[in-house]
Amino acid sequence: MKLLAATVLFAAALAPAVPSAASGPSASRGRMDGCARPEARLRTGGQGQERNDLTSAQAATVELDLDQILDGLAQPLSGLTDGAGLRSAPRITVPVYFHVLHDGAKGDVSTTEIMRQISTMNASYGGHNGGANTRVSFALRGITRSDNAAWFQDPERYEGTYKPMLHKGGKGTLNIYSTYMGGDLLGWATFPWKYKTDPEMDGVTIHYGSMPGGSIEHFNKGFSATHEVGHWLGLYHTFQDGCSNKGDRVADTPAERDPSDGCPSGKDTCPSPGDDPIHNYMDYSYDTCMTSFTAGQGTRIHNVWKAYRA
Ligand SMILES: [Zn+2]
Repeated sequence: MKLLAATVLFAAALAPAVPSAASGPSASRGRMDGCARPEARLRTGGQGQERNDLTSAQAATVELDLDQILDGLAQPLSGLTDGAGLRSAPRITVPVYFHVLHDGAKGDVSTTEIMRQISTMNASYGGHNGGANTRVSFALRGITRSDNAAWFQDPERYEGTYKPMLHKGGKGTLNIYSTYMGGDLLGWATFPWKYKTDPEMDGVTIHYGSMPGGSIEHFNKGFSATHEVGHWLGLYHTFQDGCSNKGDRVADTPAERDPSDGCPSGKDTCPSPGDDPIHNYMDYSYDTCMTSFTAGQGTRIHNVWKAYRA
């Protein structure tokens, strides 16, 4: 859910106020390897909203609800921002249903490629590339394949059609849809607190070219799925709230003013301590730049899981 503030960022990052001969269509085609991670450009209908980024006010509302739920639970972990609780958290194994949307020619990814994507997620969440072991893992339970050119070519438009038809399991089951989404978008996800009101829409959608070994330069190590699943587990972007307010509600991810582009070493955009977390899966850096979740993110995942997905 990316809202007005992020839309301003989107506009500022991508388009000059006055189009010139040098911008326009070629600038649009260049989006994939320029500016922010293409996910930011997905817009939902009306209000100029985009997904997976919240205004400070919206995040505050979500957190109020989350805190109230956690207060009502027995044996909560040691707080949303304290990574120390992670070591005592029970392991979470998430059952996964993988739905392949294709047009008969493109997008029909192989079972081997799907297994590689799941392995990549397990490596990411297990801390194998660096960072924390979040004690979350993923187990593939089933694959569906849909030969439907309309769904494949416009998965945003038909989301309300294919998801209710294909979705499996309950609030703790991850449904991943691989499809095509144009040249400037890598994926999107639903947040856990949305499950209750819209269970059949729950899940993660990724561009099939973002899977490990896929066709999208800089974004083909499979970390788009890692990132989107992070949202599905309740993580915000590391640039949530910019330098102000409460950020991403994770104490060990330094605040950053805006999304990272590429792999900008030494980027430090906020006065608070710490360089920007450019290597974090919840930033917008290239896949080749991403290595880690933090212990604080892992703890947040477990708290959010208890509140909304357990
Ligand atoms: Zn995101």
